[in-house]
Amino acid sequence: MSRLRNNYLTPFLHLFYPHNCEGCGTGMMHTDRFLCAGCVHRLPGTGFFIAPANPVEKLFYGRVPVMHAASAYYFTKGSLLQHLLTQLKYRNNKEAGYFLGRMMGYALLHAERFQQVDILVPLPLHPKKEHSRGYNQATLICEGISGVWKRPVIKDAVTRVHFTETQTRQNRVSRWENMEGVFSVTKQAVFRNKHILLIDDVITTGATLDACGSAILETEGVSLSIASVAYTL
Ligand SMILES: [Zn+2]
Repeated sequence: MSRLRNNYLTPFLHLFYPHNCEGCGTGMMHTDRFLCAGCVHRLPGTGFFIAPANPVEKLFYGRVPVMHAASAYYFTKGSLLQHLLTQLKYRNNKEAGYFLGRMMGYALLHAERFQQVDILVPLPLHPKKEHSRGYNQATLICEGISGVWKRPVIKDAVTRVHFTETQTRQNRVSRWENMEGVFSVTKQAVFRNKHILLIDDVITTGATLDACGSAILETEGVSLSIASVAYTL
């Protein structure tokens, strides 16, 4: 049935259920998914996955000892990328997360220095927030990555213990202090001697990733790398 659907029924169904690009709204062939090729090319790639000492890696210098760090795209206000991240976080558009994850997966496939990574770990949301949103967007991104770059996604070995209120008006130092003790590794055996790639949607100050990364690094034999969809300048 699925082959019949792909070869014959899908174009037919699109007559009734139009399939439009999430970026520009143009109608798409059934072989395109989520974004048209033109919109994919418009996304501002950083090239950081193959660039040691890139700005994201430097952000963590002196804070948490990461092996490698990278973001896939530059974040700017009013951009297509901002639209996709808003869809993912506030509009219940899970496909946006899988799509952005797949794009990261292709970048990781071609990044020699990330090949020693063993497992993908989404940055945990506070359970209350995950419950109200219905999902953790970082988990969807991990699942998108994993579909392209074959690494298991481990989502229950590190947890978020304290709730912190929105901290946008606080400076970097006090944010970091507030984050101490927020994360706890509950299944150390899963992490032991593994190279972990910790995933989030956007890196701004890196304070939350710092705190989670530090908790993960308390496990014996662990090495840590960090990656996100977007990086804000
Ligand atoms: Zn488009």
